[in-house]
Amino acid sequence: MQPDRQPRSQSSTRRIDKLLAYLFVTLGAMASPSVSAKCPGPVSVQVLGSGGPIANNTRASSGYLLWVNSKARLLVDAGGGTFARFGTAEARIEDLEAIVLTHLHADHAVELPAYLKSAWFGERTQALPLIGPSGNLEFPGLTEFVQQLIGPGQGAFRYLSGYMAGTSGYFKTTLYESDADSREPETILTTPNLTLTTIGVTHGSVPALGLLVEVDGKRIAFSGDQNGDNPQFGKMIAEADLLVMDHAVAQDAEKSEAELHARPEEIGRLAAEAKVKHLLLSHIMPRSEAQLSESQAIIKDAYRGKVTVAEDLLCVALPQKNR
Ligand SMILES: [Zn+2]
Repeated sequence: MQPDRQPRSQSSTRRIDKLLAYLFVTLGAMASPSVSAKCPGPVSVQVLGSGGPIANNTRASSGYLLWVNSKARLLVDAGGGTFARFGTAEARIEDLEAIVLTHLHADHAVELPAYLKSAWFGERTQALPLIGPSGNLEFPGLTEFVQQLIGPGQGAFRYLSGYMAGTSGYFKTTLYESDADSREPETILTTPNLTLTTIGVTHGSVPALGLLVEVDGKRIAFSGDQNGDNPQFGKMIAEADLLVMDHAVAQDAEKSEAELHARPEEIGRLAAEAKVKHLLLSHIMPRSEAQLSESQAIIKDAYRGKVTVAEDLLCVALPQKNR
C-alpha cells in the first residue's frame, strides 16, 4: 500500500513546474533585446523596428534613429510599434532634424500621426522637414499622404492640421517630395548635422526611396524596401560605413516576392560591389527569419565585410575615424 505516493508525486510535479516557470522567465528575460536608453558614440544608428508588416513578439515594423552626439537627429520610417520604441530609446522629437519615410506602405509610415501628436506636448517650435516619395496611380505622394492624414477639411486627423501651416501653436512640417521614378541620386536636404540624398529604388510598383545620410564624415545607407535592381543605388552608397538592408525574403522567394525585396544573393552582390563596411540585415519577416543562417552564408559568399542581424533597440555605434 502506498497511500502517500499520489500526494508526493503531485508535490514533485509542482516543484518541477515552479522550476520550469523560473527558468522560462529567467531565460526569457535574458533573450530580450537589450534596452538602451540612448546610443553611445558620436554617430550611431539605433533600430526601432527590425521587422516587417506581420505582428511579431520581438520585432516592431520598420524604423531607425540616427544619433549624433547623444541626440536623435533623424527618424527613418515610422512603422507600427516604432513610436513606443522611440519612447523607450528616450529620443526627443525636439532634437529631430528630419523624418524620412522611405515609402508609404503601412509598415513604414502608419505611426507618423502619433509622432506629430506627441510633439504637441513638447517644446519644439522649429519646422520639421518630412521627406518621402512622389506618388503614382496606386499610392499618394508624400504631400497628398500628409494632407490626407492631417490636412484641414478632409484629413483623417484634421485636429492636427496646425502642423500644415505652423499655426495654432503647432510647428510647421516642411514637405520634401523626392521623385521616386528618378534613378539618379538627389541631395534633397542639408541640415545642421546631416546631408540627405535619396534615389528611386524598385519595390514592385510602390514608389520607394533609398537613402544615404552623410554626417561628420560618415556615410550611412538605408535601402528602404527594394529588390536591388537599381545599380545607381549601389554607386550612391559606395564605401558606406553602414548599410541597413531589408532582408524580407529568402533565396527561394517566389518571383513576385523578389520583385519587392532583394534575395540574399542580391544583398551580397550589392554590399560587395558597393564595398560597404558593415551590413545590418533588418526588416526580417518569418519567411526570412526561418532561413537566416542559410541566407547569411549566401550573402557571405559574395560579401566579406561585417554582417549583423538587427534586433529592436540594437545600437550600432560607428567607429571613429583616425583624424
Ligand atoms: Zn516593408
